[in-house]
Amino acid sequence: MVEPNWAYIGLGSNLDNPVDQLKRARKAVTALEGVREQGFSSLYRSPPMGPKNQPDYINAVMAVVTELPPLVLLESLHRIEQAHGRVRGGERWGPRVLDLDILLYGRYCMRSAQLTLPHPGLTERPFVLYPLAEIAPLSLLIPGRGTLRELLRRCPRQGIEQLRLDHG
Ligand code: ATP
Ligand code: CA
Ligand code: CA
Repeated sequence: MVEPNWAYIGLGSNLDNPVDQLKRARKAVTALEGVREQGFSSLYRSPPMGPKNQPDYINAVMAVVTELPPLVLLESLHRIEQAHGRVRGGERWGPRVLDLDILLYGRYCMRSAQLTLPHPGLTERPFVLYPLAEIAPLSLLIPGRGTLRELLRRCPRQGIEQLRLDHG
């Protein structure tokens, strides 16, 4: 365990009842020892990145405070993906039951085979930035990339749709 750090986790699914996948994933992340939920965005429907012959995605972002070191948090998220039946090894950005990415971990910057922080896709993905803006201050500093406000200004919503449903 390390000193508590804020972290933001991106959730996505486009198979096997994505809304339910995200609800269950939220509970599983919250149940991890050393992780406390601080916020959860609305759900968003977004067109697929990469291969187009797959269903739309449901995405959300979750804020946590965690005492797990970044790589331990990542391993825990991978275990949750596996428990949901995620099969790896398909085409890049292909369909999946659950994807859990660490978007930010405090002010950590790192680049390794297992983990890059901040998440490299963060700056140009509307399905990450818009839900993030619901639960993080616009002054949030993304190390090396500027503030959340600046990133949003450069990122049109591009077809994402905020779902108006109770995802309790
Ligand atoms: P993208 O990372 O562009 O969103 P993806 O989520 O589809 O693509 P995956 O196949 O889920 O990619 O993950 C590939 C690898 O990325 C993982 O095994 C993991 O080790 C690595 N990875 C690097 N940085 C991160 C991060 N910040 N969060 C989650 N995984 C990461
Ligand atoms: Ca991803
Ligand atoms: Ca991933």
